[in-house]
Parts: sequence; C-alpha cells; structure tokens
Amino acid sequence: MLREQEALRDFVPVRIDGVLAGGIQLPGPNPMQREVMESSAFNRLGESVQQFDVSGRRLLIPDMSPTGSRLIAASFRAVGADAVVMETYRGLALGREYTSGKECFPCQVTLGDILHHLETERQRLGSAFAPERYVYFLPEADGPCRFGMYNKLQRLVLDRFDAYRSVPIVYISTRNNYATADIVPPGKSSYFRKLSYVAVIIADVLDRITWRVRPYEKEAGSTDGLMTDALNKMVKAVEHMGPELDFGRLLGPLADIAARARSLMKTGERRRPRIGIIGEIYLRSHPCSNQDIIRKLEAYGGEVVNASLGEWVNFVNFESIRKSEHQWQKAWRDRSHGGLREVARRWMGLKIEQYYQRWRQCQVYRTVREHLDIEPDHGIQAVKKRLDHNRLFHFAIGTEAVLSIGGALEYIHHGYDGVVNVFPFTCMPSTIASSVLRPLLHEMKVPYLDAPYDGAIQPNRDVALRTFLYQARQHRDVGGQGKER
Ligand code: SF4
Repeated sequence: MLREQEALRDFVPVRIDGVLAGGIQLPGPNPMQREVMESSAFNRLGESVQQFDVSGRRLLIPDMSPTGSRLIAASFRAVGADAVVMETYRGLALGREYTSGKECFPCQVTLGDILHHLETERQRLGSAFAPERYVYFLPEADGPCRFGMYNKLQRLVLDRFDAYRSVPIVYISTRNNYATADIVPPGKSSYFRKLSYVAVIIADVLDRITWRVRPYEKEAGSTDGLMTDALNKMVKAVEHMGPELDFGRLLGPLADIAARARSLMKTGERRRPRIGIIGEIYLRSHPCSNQDIIRKLEAYGGEVVNASLGEWVNFVNFESIRKSEHQWQKAWRDRSHGGLREVARRWMGLKIEQYYQRWRQCQVYRTVREHLDIEPDHGIQAVKKRLDHNRLFHFAIGTEAVLSIGGALEYIHHGYDGVVNVFPFTCMPSTIASSVLRPLLHEMKVPYLDAPYDGAIQPNRDVALRTFLYQARQHRDVGGQGKER
C-alpha cells in the first residue's frame, strides 16, 4: 500500500488546534496525525487539486455523457482552453487496480480514463511528453457522499507515477454553485457560465431528440447517423460562438436538426410504453457503465427518457439559494449587519442566475418542440412540490435522492409507464431513493426497476429488463396511455 495511504487510513478529521465546528474541544492531533498533516502528501492535496486559469493548457475532461461532455469541452475551447474529452472505459482495469474496492464505480471508471489517457499520450509522444501541459478536470460535490473526495484520492494515485505528479487536477464545486471565476481567463467567467449552461441544455435536447425518434425510425441507424452529425455541428457552433454571445446562432441549427429528425419517423405507429430513467448522474449518463440500458430498453419495445444534465445544474443553483436563505436567518439572529449585506448580495446573484437559466432552458426546449414533441424537462420547484405533497422526502435531507424521488413522481404524473433507477452498486442516495420508491410505486401499480452497476455482467439483467418492459406495456394498455402519433 502507498505510504501516504497508510498514513491517511488512520487520519481522524480533527483540526490542528483540536477544535471542531460548534466549539467542541477535542484533544489535539496525535503525533501520527500531525505528521500526516504536515507531510508532503497532505500538502499535495491542496497544492495540486486546485482552481487556476486553465487556458493554454490541455484540459482533460471525463466522458461522462457522450453529448454533454463534448459540448462542455467546446465551451472551454471557446474561452481558450485546449479541452479534449478523454477516451472512456478503455482503462477500467487500471482504475480497478489502483482503487481498493470501497469506492463506487464512477471513481474506478474516471481514474481508469485518466491513467489510460496519460499513458497513451506518454507512449505517443515519447521524450516530448510534458505532463505540466495537461490539466485533469474533476468536479467535486459537498455533502455526505464520497464524491467530494475522489479528486483527492485520484491525486494520491497520480502521485504514485513520477511521470504524472506534475499533472494538476482542477475542480469546480457544488459548494459555491460551480463558481468558474478562478478557472477561466479573467473577465470570461460570466461569458463561460452562460455559454456552458446553454451547451448543457443543448446536450439534453439533442439526447431527447434521439430518444423520441430512434424507436420509430423508418430506417435502422438513420437517427444515430443524423444525430452524430448534429452533435459535431453544435460542438463547432459552441466553440466558435464569438464574443457577442449570439444564441440565435445555436437555436437556428437546432430547429433544423429537430425538423430533419422528425422526417425520419414512421407515421401511424402506436406510441410505445414510456420509461423514465432516474438515478445517479454519472451512471445513468455513461452508456458503457450502464451497459447501454437505454438502447436495451428500446430494443425490448420501450421509448425512454433519461433525467437531464440540466436538472442537476439547476438543482445545484437551487440548493445554493436554499443555503443562503438559511445563512440569512442565522445572520438575522446574530444581528450581523455585515453578514446580512453579504448574504443578500449573494442571494440576489443566485436568483438572477436562476431566472436566467430558466429562461434559456425554456427558450431552447421551445425551439425544438416547435418541430418535434420531445419530452419537456421539469423544474426543481415542480420536483419540490411533488415531495412536499407526498411528505416523502425533503430537500433538507439533501443528496440527489430528492431529484430521483421527485423526478420519478413527475414521470408518473405525466403518464409514464415505468421508472428505472440506474445507479452505482452501493450508491447511498440511490439506495435511499429505491427504499422510498419501490413500495410507493408498487402501491401506485407503476412498474419500477432498480438497476445497480459495478462493471460486472449480471446474467439475469436482460430477463429483468424484458419482464419490466412487459409490465410497462400492460400498464400502458390498462391505463390507456398509448396514443396514436
Ligand atoms: S453519490 Fe453515489 S455515485 Fe456519487 S460518490 Fe456517492 S456512492 Fe458514488
């Protein structure tokens, strides 16, 4: 085991002065803990997992979503970073070799991707390989789960290789609503936030066009062909957006793509049972990790919609607003005038961003829906109302379980015929969502399936998916949800 890992194994999260939040006094760190905190490994987590201007470097982006990752990379290129999406899943064996097995699957996949990419580059370039030219992009989240620690863990692994020690990891965090001011060139943050948000929504609608058209295509493979070209076109349009940020240049081609996609569909086909996917964002978005569950459900007779990437971005903003409202109450109780001013300023900025995002999201969906009836996306307020109404779960509990539970109820409200929960094996929020949804949907007589993944092939998975689709078809027939197109 790595020396630093051995040391960190016994590390207890006590501040160096032995004071925890709330003023509780604890004994100071023991000599072992002090040694760890002062060790170079511990310092490396602060030095080489950080936020800095990435322009001019090769920014390595994990391929979480085939559409989303490419459009986010294009947004980075629009502000001067040489962003590339790494090939994915080729390095899974490496990811497994350098993890202990206690991590969840997305950690193994992303670690494998970065190790495979760097090794391939090192072999390709030979002595010209310059690790300091690269930056690895790995966002983090605060909260009770392990995700916030994965960039630190992966730092420790990269440090095991002399050749990769000088590849820094750059992150954005949910803690400050994915603030980007420190990772793009000065003065470009507002531009980048607007462009990357719209790029994420465009990724969502491109996916929804595919899922709406592919099950009904006249010629097998025609949808995939069209949408591959469409993605390349939108990537170029985002990358060359220009300083004036004229979103009309993106909406025009998008409308054209929707109209052309519609022409690929058969007419007069009965609507298939509609299946809504919820769950953990990486697993449900990453086709290799979820063993292409959307295509499988389509092959067995369903029409599928996956929860969107935009939902997560809107949720992070929503949570930041909720937190600042709590901070306001605290500052009010403390009679802190400076605190009140600071929180009010932050709250106002977040609210403006929330309105902006809602406006842009509606604009993009409206553009496409004028030509093709893709599924609209729900707002976070709608999800919240579903939870409050049912008194099942509350935003205060946190984690993306709120989105999974509320999102499933939204699907059902809109007449879907089944819900699949896709998540990494042992994922805490998804297990919570499952424990709430399984009995609830059973009572509501809506087919529900848990689909946990850890990279293993389960021989009974296909049988479970086929049985689920059979139930969904029955639900459609009994409930009369199927409509003639
Ligand atoms: S939320 Fe799930 S996927 Fe994310 S770190 Fe936790 S266990 Fe892993």
